[in-house]
Amino acid sequence: MELRDRFGRVATDLRVSVTDRCNLRCRYCIPHEPAAWFERRELLTFEEIARLVRILASQGVSSVTLTGGEPLLRRGLPDLVRMVVATPGIGDLSLTTNGTRLRELAAPLRAAGLRRATVSLDTLRPERFRAISQRDEHAAVLAGIAAARAAGLAPVKVNAVPLRGVNDDEFVDFAAWSRDTGIPVRFIEYMPLEAGPGEWSLEKVVPGREILAAVGRRFPLVPASGPEDPAPARAYRFADGAPGGIGVIMSVTEPFCRTCTRIRLTSDGKLTTCLYGPDETDLREPLRLGASDEEIAARVREAVLRKRRGGALEVFETRRPIPLVRTMHQIGG
Ligand code: SAM
Repeated sequence: MELRDRFGRVATDLRVSVTDRCNLRCRYCIPHEPAAWFERRELLTFEEIARLVRILASQGVSSVTLTGGEPLLRRGLPDLVRMVVATPGIGDLSLTTNGTRLRELAAPLRAAGLRRATVSLDTLRPERFRAISQRDEHAAVLAGIAAARAAGLAPVKVNAVPLRGVNDDEFVDFAAWSRDTGIPVRFIEYMPLEAGPGEWSLEKVVPGREILAAVGRRFPLVPASGPEDPAPARAYRFADGAPGGIGVIMSVTEPFCRTCTRIRLTSDGKLTTCLYGPDETDLREPLRLGASDEEIAARVREAVLRKRRGGALEVFETRRPIPLVRTMHQIGG
């Protein structure tokens, strides 16, 4: 079984949001206090998530990433890790986190079977971290990264969103940090994902090519995309053999919709096939009304058949944000 769409793309990667809540207020993601978070009963239970993962695995999904909101705010997350790791067909499980709670949770997550993690960190400067995230958690993130490595998670990678005029003077610093620590750093172009009249404009996007050029002038780079790198990431290692490396995900300047293999499950149980929406398919209601695995699988297949050509392509072509049904923290980044 495979989840093939009208454009021939096959969905193999599932991103599961386990909560819409976050303890940071990054200005480009959740700048203000949301009017409301999902209520407990709206969230899928771990048993419901595990069942959906099993059904999706039977349809060809082989890789799962736990995300949010901030996934480590969901109590008992190691229990979910244990359930997903035990799912036949799921060969790869990862976690995307802001890292603030990794100090306490890295070891239990590793013990539950998690092998690798990606930590979001947009700046190496504490005062700048406070300005971007509106919280004083920079030291906690660095401690979380250290704890993740100490617990045996490998690789631990860092993702950073470059913002024009905010942190666009840190690419070489990040590269130097990567060489010191051995932690690969990937820069993800700033996407228009905030609903409503937003912050985003094309002028604030720092193109991946510019980042590669800036780093390459100081530390020559050679392409190094490996099998475990997600297709959209262009990975580079340092030509002199230093550890670490740099990657860019050119989600705005070179959208990868044509090769998109992703689908997403929101924390309230909707399946989405494009980060930019608007199509969502409710799986929670049928699940709670007693639908069979096959009925749910059929819903998923229909949703994948409706998968659009690509929201990022549309942004690229029109050079404008598109109206969103949900913001990033509600979809699951
Ligand atoms: N809280 C977790 C974390 O920080 O990794 C998981 C969810 S967060 C929404 C996932 C990633 O999306 C983070 O790396 C964040 O920086 C990124 N992100 C949020 N809004 C974005 C945007 N508009 N463009 C690009 N990346 C964005």
